[in-house]
Amino acid sequence: MEAAKYIWMNGKFVSWDDAKVHVLTHTIHYGNGVIEGTKAYRTERGYAIFRLNDHTKRLKESAKMTLIDIPFSVEELNQAQIDLIRKNEFDGDNVYLRPFAFLGYGVMGIYHKNVPVETAIAAWEWGAYLGEEGMKKGIKLKIVSMTRPANTSNMGKAKATGNYLNSQMAKYEAIDCGYDEALLLDDQGYVAEASGASFFMVRNGELITPPSDNALESITQKTVIEMAQNMGINVVRRRITREEIYIADEAFLTGTAAEITPVRLIDARVIGNGARGEMTEKIQSAYFDIVFGRNREYEHYLTYVN
Ligand code: PMP
Repeated sequence: MEAAKYIWMNGKFVSWDDAKVHVLTHTIHYGNGVIEGTKAYRTERGYAIFRLNDHTKRLKESAKMTLIDIPFSVEELNQAQIDLIRKNEFDGDNVYLRPFAFLGYGVMGIYHKNVPVETAIAAWEWGAYLGEEGMKKGIKLKIVSMTRPANTSNMGKAKATGNYLNSQMAKYEAIDCGYDEALLLDDQGYVAEASGASFFMVRNGELITPPSDNALESITQKTVIEMAQNMGINVVRRRITREEIYIADEAFLTGTAAEITPVRLIDARVIGNGARGEMTEKIQSAYFDIVFGRNREYEHYLTYVN
């Protein structure tokens, strides 16, 4: 990864190499921490963070779900992210922000009420999450053997570190089988989400994406639904089964890091014409117009850093 100059830790900027923790940090052992993934793009008016407040709010909500008390407000964390981008003097096309909170050092055992909470924000320059070629030509997706944990045994709506064990096993399996990304079903057999992105498909001119019943409440998914509706596309949120995605006309993944990534193949079935679909391309280019500040209508989603 590309190192930057500073990391924000508990209210202070520390140099990248000094942002360290003890090996007995509680979260490393028991997996309760919360993260966000937020992105800033370099617009004509300098860096703008996309939907900053929504991401920070979700961090605080994830923490509430997992019983972590972050001692900073949404406003304070928003400001810290703005300051961090300024202080790091980035010059690339875009910057990925990773605000997170975790349980620190000093108490062992599962009961975590008395463990000190650490809050940090890192930022670095990051290329296309699923590869530049994937963005143009589409990626290969595999429905993996793991399902998303049932709502009775985990909290998929928390962007919690523990949930990424499931994602990690899924992604490893997909790549090991020669695919690029994993698609996970829920415990009922309906499409839930990819290991770190949401799923969309196009069938008969309609854009279809599953509800968040067993998935993260994704900010990009919401943005894409809004954009598509404004473009006059009929958007349907409903459950999707495996066989239906095989015969989709187009498919793509969305996420802060994944942006709009076309899917060209799922489980050995070529999707549509085996390349980036027409509607996918339209949505992809509209999305980049928005995040790069080229569409006035969505200006309210941008927080300028300068
Ligand atoms: N699902 C999972 C499991 C994710 O990790 C992500 C990435 N944050 C998403 C969906 C997409 O969410 P968002 O659009 O808010 O980045």
